[in-house]
Amino acid sequence: MTLEKECLSKGIPERAIVIGASLGGLLAARVLFEHFREVFVLERDELPETIAQRRGVPQGRHTHGLLASGGRALEALFPNLSKELIEAGAVRGDIANRSRRFFEGGLLARFVSGLDGILMSRPLLEASVRQRVKAISNVQLCDRIRVLSLAASSDRARITGVRTEDGEWPATLIVDATGRGSQSPKLLAELGYPVPLEERIEIGLSYTTRLFRRRSEQLGGDLMAVIPATPSGKRGGVILAQEDDRWTVTLWSYFGNGPDTDLADFRAFARSLPASHIYDAIQDADPIGEAIASRFPASVRRRYERLKAFPSGLIVFGDAISSFNPLHGQGMSVAAQEALALQREIRGGLDGLATRFFRSAAKIIDTPWRITASADLRIPETVGPRTTSVRLMNWYMSRLHRAGHRDAAIALAFHKVVNLIAPAPSLLAPGIIFRVVKGNLLPRSDGVSRSALREA
Ligand SMILES: Cc1cc2nc3c(=O)[nH]c(=O)nc-3n(C[C@H](O)[C@H](O)[C@H](O)COP(=O)(O)OP(=O)(O)OC[C@H]3O[C@@H](n4cnc5c(N)ncnc54)[C@H](O)[C@@H]3O)c2cc1C
Repeated sequence: MTLEKECLSKGIPERAIVIGASLGGLLAARVLFEHFREVFVLERDELPETIAQRRGVPQGRHTHGLLASGGRALEALFPNLSKELIEAGAVRGDIANRSRRFFEGGLLARFVSGLDGILMSRPLLEASVRQRVKAISNVQLCDRIRVLSLAASSDRARITGVRTEDGEWPATLIVDATGRGSQSPKLLAELGYPVPLEERIEIGLSYTTRLFRRRSEQLGGDLMAVIPATPSGKRGGVILAQEDDRWTVTLWSYFGNGPDTDLADFRAFARSLPASHIYDAIQDADPIGEAIASRFPASVRRRYERLKAFPSGLIVFGDAISSFNPLHGQGMSVAAQEALALQREIRGGLDGLATRFFRSAAKIIDTPWRITASADLRIPETVGPRTTSVRLMNWYMSRLHRAGHRDAAIALAFHKVVNLIAPAPSLLAPGIIFRVVKGNLLPRSDGVSRSALREA
């Protein structure tokens, strides 16, 4: 019997169905297994047995960073996962001491923060999580099954299952974890429900990723460097260590062309960035495989939490709710935090679950969305609501970054916010404001001119 038929033959109630077996879907299944007799995860791709790329997650070929908040949430859901990842080759390092973050003409202060990050490829992380979920006895991963539509009760008040080419799969709860291209808004409209307001920040991003062989002396022994785009240059890049002694390097441009996939052009692009850290590391590094180039037009946030009417039996999850500019590395960590939110909210029962979950998810999304939107709106061509508070925050952040070149307390506060382990307003705590003011009054000793800073 094929896997699909085996799954279909089990037409029993108290079933949850998760659509999509990427990170979001796997994390949702991890939570739901405690509340349903069985959980089916339906995935259109063939799921690899090994650590491998797959078609349905094309972003897997690009650099993926896991924020400290995401690491903590994953560890809460899968105890000892970090240990397992490190045994499989993932690289652990202090996020303030072994990373280089270039802002406003200099690097943020480096010091031992005690906050560790884990660096690895996206396929390694997904395969490890998939193995954990696969081992749960009442979760069934059903691959090569594409969900075509949702089935609803005759009064359309409840979603009762999903339809695939093989027929209808009844379920008590459906989780849409199909990513950015989620069809839920369209399907809701067909059922006569209002569709969520969609917020967009148009960033016209082009990016190219290449892998290189990593030697321990490169990047001065550090594990990562991030060089954000400046408003005038619009080009940036990131380099991260990975398993198997590799670097993954992604270079990008807002509203322009990213680097060609050609190696010489890729290196020349790295050389054109506002700082030389990435170029220095890859100028004579051996490339591995071919480069991959992609485009990302806009960050998108769907405001499900504001809907006045929503059918029971359905929730939307992960990138299907919010898909952020990938350069900020937030999506997987937000999905992991949403899984913890789902775990809390489902304890209150299935009645009103969607409303409670969407409210909790919105609170999780607020901070990363604000970080992404504000940073991207520094680029003049970015299209999005450039409110007075965004302008003020960006003005303040540039001062904070300058003061953070020498002040470890400021750098630590910043790392905590971008790693989503502290709320954004913590950067406005009186102690931090005082340090920012003080740091900007002191004369600079690093030879960076004021005009260069204004340009940045
Ligand atoms: C270029 C890029 C770089 C990124 N870098 C980072 C990073 O550094 N750090 C980070 O945290 N996040 C990053 N992200 C975001 C991250 O990839 C996602 O947040 C993460 O994968 C969780 O998304 P998801 O599971 O909700 O959706 P997705 O990963 O998009 O997965 C959707 C799944 O649903 C399946 N599917 C779709 N439709 C159907 C259907 N009809 N029937 C059955 N199955 C279906 C797909 O095959 C796929 O497996 C990046 C994203 C991009 C685009």
